[in-house]
Amino acid sequence: MSRLDNLYEDLKTRQIDRFLVSNISNVRYLSGFSGSTAAMLVGTDGATLVTDFRYREQAEGEVYRGIKVEIDTRDALTAIIDMLTDFEGKIGFESASLTYAVFEKLQNSLKASLVPVEAAVELLRQVKDESELASIARAVDISDEVFAEVVGEIKPGLTEVDIAARIDFLLRKKSSQIPAFETIVASGEHSSLPHAKPTTRVIREGDLVKMDFGAIWDGYCADITRTVVVGKASQRVREIYDIVLAANEKAISGVRAGVKGSDVDAIARGYITEKGFGEEFGHGLGHGVGLEIHEGPRFSRKDDTLLRPGMVATVEPGIYVPGWGGVRIEDIVVVEDGGCKVLTSSEKALMEVGM
Ligand code: ZN
Ligand code: ZN
Repeated sequence: MSRLDNLYEDLKTRQIDRFLVSNISNVRYLSGFSGSTAAMLVGTDGATLVTDFRYREQAEGEVYRGIKVEIDTRDALTAIIDMLTDFEGKIGFESASLTYAVFEKLQNSLKASLVPVEAAVELLRQVKDESELASIARAVDISDEVFAEVVGEIKPGLTEVDIAARIDFLLRKKSSQIPAFETIVASGEHSSLPHAKPTTRVIREGDLVKMDFGAIWDGYCADITRTVVVGKASQRVREIYDIVLAANEKAISGVRAGVKGSDVDAIARGYITEKGFGEEFGHGLGHGVGLEIHEGPRFSRKDDTLLRPGMVATVEPGIYVPGWGGVRIEDIVVVEDGGCKVLTSSEKALMEVGM
């Protein structure tokens, strides 16, 4: 079944006659269109993609066969409102991405009843097909290549910004695309911030350097974190690093179809807590990755999604000690029956670099 066929089935069970797709990643998933502005109207009688003049040629080349393309000089939503003026059934909309202003506009212009839909396409997107898995694997390979290159260049005297700029340069060079998200490089005591912005802090001997970044390939994201030490690792660095590494490996060996996202989180969290650092691991263990850098399912305390073959997610335990520093190790895995496949191949043993 095609992606649209799967969506039709879902809309039928929700008793929705027309579905307005406004989330641009969902538009891309359903239509193949990779531009930044478009919306889709999906009905049981077919689907239409509306975009503007800037994307005329691109849309004609990219959009999957069977989907109608309309170019509108106004905005996509105004065009879609025109198509629905006399329609009287139920129209579903994406409550997580449609703004209140647009909702009001729809409400004032249409006779149909509007039904909020929290996640329809998002749920379909959780299970990746072969071509999506190939794109993610390529994005991960590029990220691994970038890590291998950059880790050889780290040395005292460089700043976090120097390293981040080098990572971004290599990502762009190897993928022709911008990074999947803002690259994180955090060193020394600054590495205790899980989502630190790179600063002009100068790297010194003995510092931890935590790097979190990812390439995009054909729209699909990768996400990798590695933490290295400049020069000789202290006893404390080794101790904390080993706990994070063991948590990462234990959690990965617990990923398989049929378990819950929260079960995987519990493996890493239980282990880190047992070692006395439960309070220092304050974020979820991992998140789905695909057209968006953060999507479902989550490996978190709250996500009871049953894992299915083809789901792709990160496993990224961390320990963050304020005033001292932080260690995170992040890999990407594909859920399979009876286990999982780890896509990330970068070195995980503690690396002493730059001296
Ligand atoms: Zn990451
Ligand atoms: Zn991540």
